[in-house]
Amino acid sequence: MPTVWVATSDGLIVIDTIAVARAMAGNRHGWNLTRDETHYTARLMLERGDVPYSTVAERIGVSCDTLRKWFPSSVPPARPTQPRPSKVLCGTVGGYRKHRRTGTNPCQRCKAAYTEADRHYRRTGTYRGAPEYTTGTAA
Ligand SMILES: [Zn+2]
Repeated sequence: MPTVWVATSDGLIVIDTIAVARAMAGNRHGWNLTRDETHYTARLMLERGDVPYSTVAERIGVSCDTLRKWFPSSVPPARPTQPRPSKVLCGTVGGYRKHRRTGTNPCQRCKAAYTEADRHYRRTGTYRGAPEYTTGTAA
């Protein structure tokens, strides 16, 4: 195996240079680098900077979180996830059901929408195409 000793801040480590080169090129399929090789490869790729860090993480087989922990100065912090605003609007059957689901009293527009949708359903056998009374406000 074409291995080399590399001096790092953690001491001497053994690196399989072929494995590292293959991983860097995106040819790591079904096998893994050692932990030392993974760290070493990540540092090389981040220093070269020719692919985004998410690609680095993918090629060496670690999560972006792990990569961030290893190289906090090279990997930007994760964006905090925003709670998604409700897409269910008042004045729709969905709005009516959401009121029911969350234990709140259906508002007038939702009740009207539900009544109309129910009527529509009995007439046509489907809720599709039932009238809605949306107001743009989330249920
Ligand atoms: Zn409502």
